[in-house]
Amino acid sequence: MYCPKCCSKTRVIGTVAGQTNERFRKCTVCGYSFQTVEAIKYDEYWKEYKESSIENSLHFNRIKKYGNLFTAS
Ligand SMILES: [Zn+2]
Repeated sequence: MYCPKCCSKTRVIGTVAGQTNERFRKCTVCGYSFQTVEAIKYDEYWKEYKESSIENSLHFNRIKKYGNLFTAS
């Protein structure tokens, strides 16, 4: 996940695991720290989201790009 302040890469400094994962993240550039929640979504959601986003291809490409980044790292 990118820093909401400067859009640089962040690193996970702590995780509380459970049915939802809470992650504590810190920006590697500006030092801003924030918390994220990782939760289960429906499988069908992605398919619907993809189809509805084809009209807005810029947004879709951005999601694809982020997906590639995550699989590469
Ligand atoms: Zn930052």
